[in-house]
Amino acid sequence: MTQRRTFLLQLVPATLAVGASLRANAQAAKVEESDAAAKGVGYVHDASKVNAATYKGYAKGRMCGNCQLYQGKPADAWGVCPIVGMKQVNGKGWCTAWVKKA
Ligand code: SF4
Repeated sequence: MTQRRTFLLQLVPATLAVGASLRANAQAAKVEESDAAAKGVGYVHDASKVNAATYKGYAKGRMCGNCQLYQGKPADAWGVCPIVGMKQVNGKGWCTAWVKKA
């Protein structure tokens, strides 16, 4: 009984955190490629249009949806990213700050 209570008490903060993250995703504005923060990291909405000759850090398959900083589920169309000021980025987008999701 005590273990169950402990488990439930640990579950509450985690559930609240997930709920807060989902609300943040729903409320955040979508970033524009022309935003200063987006331009600063070479963000584009469509990773397939990245100029690999210019951006050596880009490789096919790298996109926001599989980036460590993406605060959405990998399959979400849009998700919040701290690199662009907590605005939503396209799941199929990319920028120079991309980090492989652990
Ligand atoms: S840091 Fe990651 S999620 Fe954010 S814009 Fe760059 S590639 Fe996308």
